[in-house]
Amino acid sequence: MKTYSIATIPGDGIGKEVVPAGQQVLEALAKTSSTFRFEFENFDWGGDYYRQHGVMMPADGLDAIRNKDAILFGSAGDPHIPDHITLWGLRLKICQGFDQYANVRPTRILSGIDAPLKRCKPEDLNWVIVRENSEGEYSGVGGRVHQGHPIEAATDVSMMTRAGVERIMRFAFKLAQSRPRKLLTVITKSNAQRHAMVMWDEIALQISKEFPDVTWDKELVDASTARMINKPQTLDTIVATNLHADILSDLAAALAGSLGIAPTGNIDPEHRYPSMFEPIHGSAFDIMGKGLANPVGTFWSVVMLLEHLGEFDAAKQVMSAIEQVTANPKLHTGDLGGKATTVQVTQAVCELLTAGAQRKAA
Ligand code: NAD
Ligand code: MN
Repeated sequence: MKTYSIATIPGDGIGKEVVPAGQQVLEALAKTSSTFRFEFENFDWGGDYYRQHGVMMPADGLDAIRNKDAILFGSAGDPHIPDHITLWGLRLKICQGFDQYANVRPTRILSGIDAPLKRCKPEDLNWVIVRENSEGEYSGVGGRVHQGHPIEAATDVSMMTRAGVERIMRFAFKLAQSRPRKLLTVITKSNAQRHAMVMWDEIALQISKEFPDVTWDKELVDASTARMINKPQTLDTIVATNLHADILSDLAAALAGSLGIAPTGNIDPEHRYPSMFEPIHGSAFDIMGKGLANPVGTFWSVVMLLEHLGEFDAAKQVMSAIEQVTANPKLHTGDLGGKATTVQVTQAVCELLTAGAQRKAA
């Protein structure tokens, strides 16, 4: 029996509600498996930890999770702490510390979800957005001087490296190649940004030669928002910079029905470090502590976690349970226009996993 050790980091707000729900789903799944089990260790890092210790996570925190097989993360963001402190002090510390350079965000319209685009059939929207997750606009290079004086100046330098762009392009082409349509769109802004984005385009062309069976095109980021809405079926795999993909993936999540459903993986494709899986939503201050959070984004992140561990059958089982639940409007949470609670949705998914295993055994 294989044992996977998983770090859970709920963080703040509804992260504290959806991560335990995700753990329950993994536990229900493990009960049905004769080949693997999970060992969880929970870390109470986040806003409350900051109030006690002045930091979001301990200085040697990365060492505590370095040898885990994967990390399940909730959200970093507290109403009483500036967002740049919570983000850089926890989530980005882990992403950068473990060089999780590929952020992968699948988007589909799940069964039973009423998506906002009326002309878009569910099968028209089946995307994976690959976000460069280690440099670019969010590299952290920059500074601020003469604070409070009229001559105050501030910069956030977008830094791109050949190594960084080559590795994310190679990852995106490989991912596109693994999908049925073998179709990649490279998002750019090389008309206005004439240095780094021109290099980005050149490297895309260079890496494309390694993948002759992948069809690819280039789209300016602003035009791509219109294309996502008007011609969703022309897109499949999408690769973009840290900032561009951050924005496009929230748009994608909304087009698929709700921010509460969308998952993401912060992946180290070389498996040198643990990868981290999380719903793309934040702490949702308006509903936190009320048991109303949609846990589906976390469950779909659990599916990605299982795929990353190589447990593809288990991943399929969980995804199928999720889609059976979304297909039932009685099990929709408030973000989807329903009345279901986090606990009800979680129980429904767990029961389907158990029932599925019993059916198989019978
Ligand atoms: P948000 O995702 O927290 O909330 C946006 C809206 O969507 C809210 O109305 C919220 O109620 C709703 N929503 C989000 N997830 C939901 C779910 N699972 N179920 C039901 N409704 C859901 O975004 P925001 O308001 O911009 O940010 C709040 C805080 O979260 C900020 O501090 C921000 O920095 C942080 N944040 C963190 C992450 C992260 O850690 N990955 C991501 C985004 C935002
Ligand atoms: Mn974002």
